[in-house]
Amino acid sequence: MPYINKEKDYVIEFAIKWPISFDSLWGRGYNSPLMSGQQRLPIELDPFRMAEQGRQFSSPVRIKQFKRLLPLLESDEGNVDVELQFEVDEIGMRILRGHLKANLILQCQRCLAKMDYPLESDFHLAIIQSDGEVERLPETYEPLVVESTPMHVLDVIEDEILLSIPQVPMHGENDCIAQPTKDKTELAEQHANGETKENPFAVLEKLKKDH
Ligand SMILES: [Zn+2]
Repeated sequence: MPYINKEKDYVIEFAIKWPISFDSLWGRGYNSPLMSGQQRLPIELDPFRMAEQGRQFSSPVRIKQFKRLLPLLESDEGNVDVELQFEVDEIGMRILRGHLKANLILQCQRCLAKMDYPLESDFHLAIIQSDGEVERLPETYEPLVVESTPMHVLDVIEDEILLSIPQVPMHGENDCIAQPTKDKTELAEQHANGETKENPFAVLEKLKKDH
């Protein structure tokens, strides 16, 4: 009898490819003091404790796991390579740095054909316990409000992916099979008027406003 894996929302399904090269993912500019001690990403974690322990995680996560992202994609195949570093900074702020890398297949909003979107995103979040602490954050930090632990870590990663995707993805004019009958201004106006309400990319607009 074949084993049927009934995927549940809260289960992180790791890809087989692991471990991945830490250096290749963090790339230039990330000054990691220590490459040892990386672990697979757990489903849930306590980010405050992780920061105090200086924990690092490294995992490819299947794109299928990101349920809010899926309506924006033309393909749910493949992985997002996720690197997380929890740490406490010099002013005692608990920090989550992340690096995400994936090749997403989006839909060009001009010709409606598929387009490759190489996602490569770094984020740098200050982990705080309530909205009230946001005002005290240095301007360089984006807040990650964690009111209760454990935290579902995929939600944070998914938010960052959604924020990194263009609101109106389009091929470059030379690569697009459609004539550019509508320029970006016109698309933007439609967007603002809510004429693209059925477009799944509207969720991005909402998410970006919320931030
Ligand atoms: Zn196109």
